[in-house]
Amino acid sequence: MLGGIPTAEHVSRGDLLLGQRSGEIGMLHSWELVTAVDGPGTRMTTFLAGCPLRCLYCHNPDTMSARRGVPVLAGDLLDRITRYRSVFTATGGGITLSGGEALAQPAFTRRILRGAKELGIHTALDTSGFLGANCDDSMLADVDLVLLDVKAGDEPTYHRVTGRRLAPTVEFGRRVAATGVELWVRFVLVPGLTDAPATIKAVADYAASLSTLTRVEVLPFHQLGRDKWAELGLDYELATTVPPTAEQVAQARAIFTARGLKTY
Ligand code: SF4
Repeated sequence: MLGGIPTAEHVSRGDLLLGQRSGEIGMLHSWELVTAVDGPGTRMTTFLAGCPLRCLYCHNPDTMSARRGVPVLAGDLLDRITRYRSVFTATGGGITLSGGEALAQPAFTRRILRGAKELGIHTALDTSGFLGANCDDSMLADVDLVLLDVKAGDEPTYHRVTGRRLAPTVEFGRRVAATGVELWVRFVLVPGLTDAPATIKAVADYAASLSTLTRVEVLPFHQLGRDKWAELGLDYELATTVPPTAEQVAQARAIFTARGLKTY
């Protein structure tokens, strides 16, 4: 069981691969019910295992590898989602698929989004956008809100933070906006890493260019994930980085609000 959801650890390796390919089986890390984060209302946020990025500040490094996930049947996850339908209706909430990276398991993500829409449930996709090409227009049609994590506004900083390129994220956000799907942009402020005014301004300019953007969240870096890096035997470069002060966060938020963006 994964927090009350049956797991499919009994299936053979061959059936597991077939199920992953068809979207009937996904590798899950965990799930939780949250309010006022990961989208509007009360949400069931599901963390899928596996991520192509290696963010220096990742506070869930145990979600980076798909191997650390447990197999779950799409039908069993949808059964659990169905249980909370009245809560979602009462609070204006829904489900959020997160990770890890939900788009690293596109068939399963598509299946869950479709199933949720058939139940009339609001859907959010929390993604770095790096694998945005995996979210075609038919999948996007089942997404009500994209939470786009923009980790830096320029390629060198983005690469330093994630080990990957920024361009796919930029392109995905533009496509989401062009499709008319609501967007939130999230940006983690890390002193000494992402706090250069030039990179924050570049994120803000990009956010301001997205016609369906309704909200920006500037999230202060924290050290809550530090122990997990140690437990996994991974090298944690930000061990001595101090969270930003309230003033630094306010200054970063001001760069967004100066562009007329609703910023938290
Ligand atoms: S995209 Fe998210 S899950 Fe992946 S490494 Fe970065 S912070 Fe961690």
